[in-house]
Amino acid sequence: MHILFSMSLAGIYYHEKIRGVPGARIAAEKAIKKVIGHGCSVSCNMCLNKNNAGELMDTVNYLDALGVEFIHISSVNEEGLWKEFNKKNSLTYDEQLQVLLEYIPHYYKGRVKTGFVYQGWFTAKGFDGEYSSGHLVNHEQETDFSQKPLCSSSKLKAFLNAEGMLSPCIPMDGKMPDNKYMSIYERPLKELFTDSAWTEFNKLTKEDYLQRNVRCRSCEYRLQCDFGCPAAGFIDHDRFWGIDEKNCFFLKNRCAEKILKVARYASLQKIKQKGVYV
Ligand code: SF4
Repeated sequence: MHILFSMSLAGIYYHEKIRGVPGARIAAEKAIKKVIGHGCSVSCNMCLNKNNAGELMDTVNYLDALGVEFIHISSVNEEGLWKEFNKKNSLTYDEQLQVLLEYIPHYYKGRVKTGFVYQGWFTAKGFDGEYSSGHLVNHEQETDFSQKPLCSSSKLKAFLNAEGMLSPCIPMDGKMPDNKYMSIYERPLKELFTDSAWTEFNKLTKEDYLQRNVRCRSCEYRLQCDFGCPAAGFIDHDRFWGIDEKNCFFLKNRCAEKILKVARYASLQKIKQKGVYV
């Protein structure tokens, strides 16, 4: 059995500041070491903003040294208290792209073993592994969007919040379209996995999404676009079926080309480092 623990580390130096608890980073480190010591895998989440973006390299290197398997790096979701008081500390989409473009060469130069995914824009499976750019698909040969699930990961994962409510993931918590939310305190989890808002959500398709978004229906990038993340679309527009603007930025600014160009160059340097060409 493969047990994966997921932990949040908001930056090697910044973690304690945002948590407001002295010793929080050391406590997280101890927990990571303990779990890995028991033979389990650990993945970490790092949420980027203007205060910790400069710590990306040090944080990844630190988690790599601890033996963390994978890091999910994303920008802050602008909602709740962050939206109210801290929006000025969010990175713009251009800044998010810049942080990634500057980081990729360091990743390969540092021979990091830990894989990472950045915003769904770029995935690298370690120094020796593959890399790819996300959010790009090719629907040209196959344009039947009614057969494509709205969210490709929701069938594989679910999230239980502190009140026992089931939803597809943490960002989707409290944002389901029909609000048919059900609690494990009212019905067994087994039932929620067979008939609930979660199962209804899993039936939604890209066609359902397209029917509700005129902007996407008439967009020139429609056939290369995976329409991003439903939770991100909700956060950007304060409603279900909203457009994921970060995904839109990625498509319209041809970010995949820019990212892969940097990754290819860094990867070539990697091969030189390993002595294949020299
Ligand atoms: S690029 Fe933006 S507007 Fe165009 S299809 Fe994708 S999400 Fe819709």
